[in-house]
Amino acid sequence: MLDIALKLLKEMTKHSYKAYIVGGFVRDHVLGIESNDIDITTNATPKEIKELFEDSCLPNDDYGSVIVLKKGVRFDITTFREEKDYEDHRKPGVIQYIDDLYPDLLRRDFVINTLCMDDNGNIIDYLGAQEDIDKGIIRTVGDARNKFTEDSLRILRAIRFATILDFELSEEVIEAIRETKEFVKDLSYTRKKEELDKIFNSPNRDKGIQLLLDFKLDEELELYNLDKVLGLDVASSIDIWSVLDVSPKYPFHKSELELKNNIHKAMDLNNLDPMALYTYGLYVNSCAGRMKGLDVKNITERYINLPIHSKEEVDISAETIMRLLDKEPGKYLKDIYDDVLREILYSRL
Ligand code: ATP
Ligand code: MG
Repeated sequence: MLDIALKLLKEMTKHSYKAYIVGGFVRDHVLGIESNDIDITTNATPKEIKELFEDSCLPNDDYGSVIVLKKGVRFDITTFREEKDYEDHRKPGVIQYIDDLYPDLLRRDFVINTLCMDDNGNIIDYLGAQEDIDKGIIRTVGDARNKFTEDSLRILRAIRFATILDFELSEEVIEAIRETKEFVKDLSYTRKKEELDKIFNSPNRDKGIQLLLDFKLDEELELYNLDKVLGLDVASSIDIWSVLDVSPKYPFHKSELELKNNIHKAMDLNNLDPMALYTYGLYVNSCAGRMKGLDVKNITERYINLPIHSKEEVDISAETIMRLLDKEPGKYLKDIYDDVLREILYSRL
């Protein structure tokens, strides 16, 4: 992956542009963590980038960054810029393209995210990122209060990085979050959910959840019951969402919503019970059972040993019931059918 990236940088420098890998990929690289998308920063304008990579650009005008696909690897290429006049504690009102890397680094969120790599694979570290990474500390680039007031997503990003990397927030960052946390209310629910999903999906999630609780960000984020999910054994973020009581404004895909609601219901059932297993299936019962400390192996075994797993396996038709009882069709058919199903599930029939 790195070799594909360096090749792409070389293609850009050959055309006399300055171009560097920046941010998460380089940070993760020095930490020995594999990461999938690569951010590139350059003095080439979006128009110039599109001309250069005509055949591999994705149509996208998000913030003036250009997405290029090379050998299945996704590159986000963004022009060096200064950002000013932030609106709604989120978006810069003015973006100005510039020719130098250094001022572009100053607009970034955290020192650990300012590490760059040139086309020879050399690390460029203008702001002391390597030292912060070695110490495992998250500091903002410049004044923390300003950074969080400009863009309150950075508050959630700070907690996300502290969680995923198991780093500590600097004293200044902690103080600034206390002072500016109310601004996270202004973020879109989509953005809030994206960051929370990343925190909830981390194996180190409890650290992030505890930080959210310590800062009382659960109130700003309208996440009720957050303390209840501490220490739970969960497989993915959806398990956590199913336990939380959250604002209905959080956007879930239809399939996510169904899963979340089913896990929520299965939490109140005995997940070893044949009817619960049949109705909600193995996955949902395993998620609920795991959070309650049940042995998933046990749940799986019980599920496999159910006499039936679907309606199609019940070998009786409405016609047969009607003939046996000598009755016309009616609501009673469903009652009998449900009864038969129950008797089979509990191995009495
Ligand atoms: P990851 O990709 O692992 O989520 P990342 O640090 O690469 O983490 P991205 O969202 O991909 O995060 O952003 C790339 C880089 O852009 C960051 O490393 C950081 O330098 C800068 N950046 C991203 N979001 C912000 C922000 N809200 N404010 C300031 N700089 C940002
Ligand atoms: Mg990234």
